[in-house]
This record gives sequence, structure tokens and C-alpha cells, in this order.
Amino acid sequence: MSTFPELPPAPSGEGLSLPAGEAAGMEERLRRSEERYRSLVAATAQIVWVANAQGLVEEDSPSWRAYTGQSAEEVLGLGWLDAVHPDDRPGTLHVWSQALASGGFYEIEYRIRRYDGVYRTFWVRGVPVREADGSIREWVGTCTDITDRKRLEDELIQTAYEATLRANQLEATFEAMTDAVFIFDSEGWILSVNAAARRFLSRVAPLSEKEMTVDDYLARLDLRDATGQALAREQWPSQRLLRGEVLADAPFSDLLLRLPNGCERRISVSGSPVRDDRGSVIGAVAIGRDVTERYLLERRTHEALEALLALAEALVEIPRDLASPQPEHVGSSSAETGAPGLHQRHEITHRLARLICQVLNCHQVAILHLAAESDVLQLLAYAGDEYDGEGWQGWLPLHCPAEPQLSLSFPPEAVAALRADRLLGQNDGGSSVVPVEAGERYAAVIAPMLIDQQLIGLIRIQHIEREHEYSAEEVALIRAVARLAALVTEHERLLHERAEARANELALRESNRRMDEFLSIASHELRTPLTTIKGNVQLARRHLQRLPLTAEQREKLAIVQELLERADRQTGLLTRLVRDLLESSRAQADRLVVQRRPENLLAIVRQTVSDLQSTAAQRCIRLLVAGQELEPESEPAPIMVLVDAESVGLVVTNYLTNAIKYSPRESPIEVSVECEGCQARVSVRDQGPGLPPAEQRRIWERFYRVPGIQAQGSASPGLGLGLHICKTIIERHQGSVGVSSQPGAGSTFWFTLPLLMEAGEGTGL
Ligand code: ADP
Repeated sequence: MSTFPELPPAPSGEGLSLPAGEAAGMEERLRRSEERYRSLVAATAQIVWVANAQGLVEEDSPSWRAYTGQSAEEVLGLGWLDAVHPDDRPGTLHVWSQALASGGFYEIEYRIRRYDGVYRTFWVRGVPVREADGSIREWVGTCTDITDRKRLEDELIQTAYEATLRANQLEATFEAMTDAVFIFDSEGWILSVNAAARRFLSRVAPLSEKEMTVDDYLARLDLRDATGQALAREQWPSQRLLRGEVLADAPFSDLLLRLPNGCERRISVSGSPVRDDRGSVIGAVAIGRDVTERYLLERRTHEALEALLALAEALVEIPRDLASPQPEHVGSSSAETGAPGLHQRHEITHRLARLICQVLNCHQVAILHLAAESDVLQLLAYAGDEYDGEGWQGWLPLHCPAEPQLSLSFPPEAVAALRADRLLGQNDGGSSVVPVEAGERYAAVIAPMLIDQQLIGLIRIQHIEREHEYSAEEVALIRAVARLAALVTEHERLLHERAEARANELALRESNRRMDEFLSIASHELRTPLTTIKGNVQLARRHLQRLPLTAEQREKLAIVQELLERADRQTGLLTRLVRDLLESSRAQADRLVVQRRPENLLAIVRQTVSDLQSTAAQRCIRLLVAGQELEPESEPAPIMVLVDAESVGLVVTNYLTNAIKYSPRESPIEVSVECEGCQARVSVRDQGPGLPPAEQRRIWERFYRVPGIQAQGSASPGLGLGLHICKTIIERHQGSVGVSSQPGAGSTFWFTLPLLMEAGEGTGL
């Protein structure tokens, strides 16, 4: 076995003789060719072998020996097989014998044991070298170490396999995603979409349509923002992404769109631009999630909550008629309890606290009341296992006395937050409070109770765990519960106030009744002695006048006369006051006696005017009938009314006395009587101080006197009863009273009475 296979035999020289010079040249070329061949083989770093036509190695193969460490003898025949991996030997022999039989190429891969025992994989090739007659002379072959290449190939195959697997997985995930994923290039051409996106796109435009960009699709969707405002093109998500913006999936980034079939959807869009190595945007990935259902659900929940609140509001709505008696509170409004309805009030609030505890599934609930005037917080009710209502002040962030004020028990920014209807979260120690954020953990939450933006109290909620995480829903629920609690406690407070007011009203009524009783007794008691005094005084005056006295004596007694006159006037005044008191108490006790007869109103008025004119001779009192001044002797047609003449005379007297009393002495007073439709109207006009509107209403109340209005000259002040009596009398006659006046421009007091109409009769004038 030669190291190198012999070169193909030189062409036979038979019949061809070469000149000696040429033959030498030929040999030289052959020698060079062989050298080149050897160098080539050496350079390949392969193992080269030669076997005879039967496949047995006869020639030494130094490269095989060098590699395997076998000796030349060991290699001979089929000895080389010993260096082949035992597992590969049967296959190798099989292929080798096939090649020998067929005379074709011998090609196989097997592992050869290196001199150091390490097996490496070789690619073995062999070709037959034939004789001129075509028979095989020998086999020449090479073994090439392909271990590294093979490992590389294996690795590549493995990597490719894994990559394909991953790609398939990704592809499957991508396709299975319920979110629609769009990948598009910098011009908006769609590069890839998943199944959800394909479905979506097919609803926008038939897939058969010419290729479209993302914007072509968007242009067909009437895009709007979450508030329903139309979106300008530069605000479209595709445009924003291609400008390099990252879109986060947030509620405020939701889009509203209308599909060509008219269906409205709400889509939450997120995505990010795709950049090349240099950072330029070369495309984008956009993900759309249809949140229509979720949004509707949220809205429904919200609406349900609102409805709940509305219901609660309706339930606790304050009865409009606050004056109507409420049996349960009237019962507790007696003087002994002192705080009417207080028991019920607290019971209801306690029930509320227990209810809140249940609704929020929490450990402890406390409802604190804030007094508007004093800013003091007070524990109204609580619910929870391990609490007896003592030491609640310890829950407040800043430590305070037993009656803590809001402004001292919370930091100023916390007070401002509470007043702005924000919830506060308290840390474990309780000393720090921060505005509540959904998803955060707090030891307790404090919610403000507001009515009409006024802080009326606080609710403190605590869970069993040291720090509880409050979800957005829980925060919303706490807020709703606080609103409800505010309504309930406010309702209770108003009921309580009403009960108190009713108690006061009852007390007032009782004291009025006692006062009337007293007045009635007092005026009765006074009337008799007064009448006696008055009679005696008048008797004395008459006696004095009748005495036959000298001018000197008369002069001396003038002073007595004057004293008697004054006494007479004063008893007159006292009589009037007593009469007023009596009338008033009768009116109050509904005992005003009116004996109605057909009367001529004109005659009553005329008589009263004339009576008063005689007592106030210096005053000018004019009487007008139907706008005409009444001449002393004239006899106008009567104005008939069905009245108690004495009572109506009293009303005219009162109006006229007031006019005389409150207007300047020199100013005239006008009394007019006229008919208006089926009513008679009497009015007394003066040029006195006049009355502002508010006073015009109040003068009809009992004992009301307008501050600052003084009676003229020596006229005595009244009790503020006259007008009240007038009103009572006139209303008893189905008439009405009133005043028209302006401060500084005098007053006109009037009353109307129904005319007495006989069948077919006119007004009587
Ligand atoms: P009094 O006995 O005090 O006059 P009245 O009930 O008659 O009581 O009147 C109530 C109050 O109305 C009076 O105190 C007075 O302040 C005011 N008043 C009544 N009449 C007039 C008037 N003609 N002009 C101005 N004020 C009047």
C-alpha cells in the first residue's frame, strides 16, 4: 500500500515510439504532476487511503495511522475497522461491500477513534481506479473530519427547529389573541394582522377590496374620542404611533367608532412605534381591545348605584309639610325629655352604622357629627365588635381634647380635602392621612359626609386586616354610602329640629292661651272699677259746673276742673285699652261676638267720624262718599251690609284714632266710602309717617308696634292690639283689611265688606 494512489497509468506506448528527447520531457512532466498531487493531498489535511480491488488495505496509510494510532500491520486488510466506532462498523461494512460489488462511489459517514480514544465523525469517500480494460485495479479514498461542521449543522438545525417552534407558538398566540393586533409600516401599509384584526377589518371593508392603509380603514369609522368629540386626523392612533408616540391602554384613550353597518363600538387602543437601528420609526404595532361591553357594564353599575342613591334620597326625603304633626316625635316632645326625638335619632344612626359595616364588609364603622358653629366633632354612632364607644378621639390624626375640633384634629390640607369631598386614607399609626387612591392599602378610610357642599360629618371605616387594599369599586361604594349616611343623618337632624320646633310651638300656644286667660280676667276686673271711676269723675265735673260760684271762686276751682278733665281723659284712655285687651282676648279665644243685622255702612262711618271729630275738634276730617265730599245735611243712598254695627264702628274708630294719633295735627284726614262691584270699601287716609312693606305685614299681629313710630303730641301709645282686632272683626264678616303706604308719604288703611244684595237689587248707590 503506497501512501498515495498511483496516478492513472500513462497511455500505452504500443505502436507509438517517442523520440528520446520527448520521452525525457514526458517523464519530467509526470514527476512534476505527482509532486503537485502529493502537495495537494498534504494540504487537504485529510486521511487518504488505498485499498485493493477486493476492498482490503494492502498499502500503508501514514495519515490514517497518525490519526488513529494504529500500526501499519493493524490497518491491513479490514484491520482499519477496529478504529471505527463499534456501532458504525456493520453499516460501514455493508456500504463498503455494496460499493465493491457495484464498482460505484463509496460514500459513508462514520466515527473514527482518534489515537487518544476520542471519536470524531468523518465523511468517507472512495472511488475505484480502473485498468484500461475497465476492471477495477484498486480503490482510493479520503476521510474528512466533519465533526465540527456537523456539530454546527446540528446546532443550526436545532436552532432552526426551536425558532420555528417559537415562531409557531407566537403565531398561534398572535392568532388566538382576542385583542386585534395590527402591524403596519411607516406609510401605514398593513404588514401583518391577527385573526381578531382580520375579522375587524372585514367588517370595515370587504377583504376583496384593493389593498388599503390603516388610515384608509380608519377614515371609514367616524372616529371620536371618549367624550364623543370628532378626532382630527393627526389624533388618529396610527398617526400618533408613526410620530413616535407610545399609546397606553387607559380609559381616557378610548375611542368611539361607528362601523359601516351603523354599530357603535368603544375601543381601547394601545401600541408602540417600531424603530430601526438608528431609531427612526419604520412602522408600528397597534392593539385594539373592544371595551364596549365592559364600558356598558361599568355604566350600568354606575347607573345602578345612582339609582340606589336616588331611591335612598327619595326614601329619606324631608316631608314638605314640616308643620304637620309627626306622631312619633310629638310623643317625645314633652317638656321632661328635653331633647325630643333624640333617642330615635341615635337609634337610626346606629342602625345605619351597622348597615354600613355589613355593606362594606368591614370591621368597624364610626359616624362622627360635625357641629357647624363650633367645628366640634362628636361620635354619633358606631358599629363593630371590639369597641365600646370610648376613646374614639384616638382615631383622629392629631391628638385633641375630649371634644375635638375638626381644624385641630386634622392637618389643614386634610380638612380642605374633606370639604372638597375627597376620601382620606389613614396609615397604620393613624397619624398621617392622604387622599385615597384606588388600589392602595390603608389602615382606615375617612369619608366626608356632605349636604349641599357643607361638611356635616365623617365616616371612618376600618377593616380587620392591618392594612386593607381598597379597590376602585370599594372607594366608589364608600363614597355612595357616605352620601347616603349624610342624607339620613341630616334627615334625622331635621326631624329632631322639627320636633323641637313643634314643642316650642306648643309651648308658645300654651303661653298665649294663659296670657289670653289672664288678659280676659284682668280686663274684666278693670272694667267695673274703671266705669265707676269714670262715672264719678264726670259726676264731680258736672257738680262743679253747676255750683253757684263767684268769679273768684270759679278761678280758684279752675285747677280742680282741669284735674278732673285730665282724670276723665285718662280714664277714657284706660277704658279703651281695657276694651282692646278684652276684644283681643275674645278674638283670640274665638269668642268675639258679632250680631249681624242689615246696616247702612255709611251711617256707621258717618256717626264714627262725627264722634271723633267732636273729641278732636282741631283736626280736619273729611268724609267722601263715592269720591264726593259729603255735605253735612245731605242724605246719600244707604250702603247696606250685614254686620254687627258696634264691631264695624270699632274698626272705623281704630283706623281713625290711629290716623289722628300718628299724623301731624295740621294735616287733613280723609275717610272715604265707596262700592266696588259687590263689595263696600272704607278707607282712612292720613299724611303720617307711612310704613315700609315689611311693617305693613306685621302691624296686623297682636302686640306689634312699629319701632320708631311715635304718637303725636300728648296722645298715648296703644298696646299694638287695635289693628289685630280690626282684622279679626272684618274677617269674621267675610271682608278683608289692608294698608297701602310708603314711608314718608302717609298711609291708607282700608277694609272691605260684602254688600247686602237683595234679589234683583243693584249696589244701593
Ligand atoms: P296701637 O294701639 O299701638 O296703635 P295698632 O294695632 O292700632 O296699635 O297699631 C299697630 C302699630 O301700627 C302702631 O303701634 C303703629 O306703630 C302702627 N300704625 C298704626 N296706624 C298707623 C298709621 N296710620 N300711620 C303709621 N303707623 C301706624
